[in-house]
Amino acid sequence: MPNEVVSVNPAHPAEVVARYPVASTVDVDAAVTGASLAQRAWAEVPIPARAEVIARVGDLLAERKAEISTLVSREAGKVLAEAAGDVQEAIDMAAFVAGQGRGPFGETVPCEMPDKLAFTTRHPVGVVAMITPWNFPIAIPSWKTLPALLAGNGMVLKPSEHAPACCAAYAGVLREAGVPAELVQVVHGFAEAGAALTVHPGVRAVSFTGSVPTGRVVAAAAMEHGPKLVSLELGGKNAMVVLADADLDLVVDGALFGAFGTSGQRCTSTSRLIVHRAIRDELVARVAARAEKLVLGDPTDPATDVGPVIDERALSRIDAMVRAAVDEGARPAAGGRIVQVDSCDGAAFYAPTILTDVRRDHRVAREEVFGPVLAVIDVDGFDDAIDVVNDTEYGLSAAIYTRDVNLAMRATQRIDTGIVYVNAPTIGAEIQLPFGGTKHTGNGYREAGRRGLEQFSETKTVYVDYSGRLQRAQIDNRPPIGSEP
Ligand code: NAD
Repeated sequence: MPNEVVSVNPAHPAEVVARYPVASTVDVDAAVTGASLAQRAWAEVPIPARAEVIARVGDLLAERKAEISTLVSREAGKVLAEAAGDVQEAIDMAAFVAGQGRGPFGETVPCEMPDKLAFTTRHPVGVVAMITPWNFPIAIPSWKTLPALLAGNGMVLKPSEHAPACCAAYAGVLREAGVPAELVQVVHGFAEAGAALTVHPGVRAVSFTGSVPTGRVVAAAAMEHGPKLVSLELGGKNAMVVLADADLDLVVDGALFGAFGTSGQRCTSTSRLIVHRAIRDELVARVAARAEKLVLGDPTDPATDVGPVIDERALSRIDAMVRAAVDEGARPAAGGRIVQVDSCDGAAFYAPTILTDVRRDHRVAREEVFGPVLAVIDVDGFDDAIDVVNDTEYGLSAAIYTRDVNLAMRATQRIDTGIVYVNAPTIGAEIQLPFGGTKHTGNGYREAGRRGLEQFSETKTVYVDYSGRLQRAQIDNRPPIGSEP
């Protein structure tokens, strides 16, 4: 394993963006210890005062939006508009979390007895390990750090080896806003650094976002060395259902944005188009015509629609999945090939790809591609469509396009994903709502929204008896049924 993390510009792989030494287990230990010491003081800061620091994080990010967006674009290969969206999510999250600093942190609940008060409060968990992927290198660290800071925790971030400079820039903004320097630590590295952090005895909670296989390894290690609180936000196999009555103009725009935005490298990217047979040919022809016109190029060039995928390894995986699909009988209606872009020497571009004749049992219909590939599956109607949507081990996001409000509402009930959109693509979550998925996409936690705090706090239940006598709860004093006077 290299002793340095070297991030490169995916559009110009010869251009090094940043270098960081790989954290050893000694470095990881020092980071956890530092965060733990700082956490004790931070937990004493009143919550509204913590919130003020978080609000300043948002202000600073807004001031630096252009500069940080350019870094995101250079390091993660996201087109500028999407890189700016990455930063905007963090700005929005700061506003939302800062507001929570003056909101409820528990609930009061009626007691069974007179002169007794019962309520809950939230308390910090201690030190949280945060292991993040490269594809939202500002937004995802903000989704984790800001609620964790509000809850009074210390934290150690292990960003993806593909986007370490983005995380370092974000951590710099936290410090400048007034977050104590030792409280939020960053360790760089590959799997080993993440693994050392996961099992560290000083780490009470692990918040992981990434792929299903890595999530399984992380969760197993954390439980073996704990138990620890483990929250997992993993992959998706997101579907867009198009019924025969759908507004096809809307569908075409949504399918292109959902499937090919961020080169298909969002956890919520649309990777299955589940379409009624009656309109399939027209829809595929229209989406394919637009897909062929998308401009591939340097993501910092405003004329670019689709940037490169993250690296050669991802490119080979995507191409192998498309080849396997074709071997299984799928047919490319657009793309299906690796592309050379003259202005981006050595960059890994894949043509926006639409595969028709995909069956629900094909690999490309079941496994996450994490690239610009849309698999079209024909269905006979609503019930068939819902069956196909749910026929996957993932459960992150889904969309349905129809003008029939009854079917749309029924779909919101029957689709078993964590997020459902009606007449909008599978991407585009807003931070004031919970984000996360069912089945193998996660383990029941949600990030963002009012549930975002849950993974970073422990609930304490408090009973205060001011009766001056021993009062027994109903479990200990309720007379047997039928014996009451
Ligand atoms: P990944 O699983 O390869 O890596 C994620 C992080 O885990 C990286 O920081 C990596 O260094 C670290 N890691 C790897 N092995 C580890 C180990 N054994 N112990 C501890 N840490 C380890 O994912 P990626 O390629 O960076 O990101 C893409 C994946 O993330 C996709 O599957 C995508 O769907 C998913 N994702 C999910 C969400 C969500 O919120 N559900 C959001 C974004 C991305």
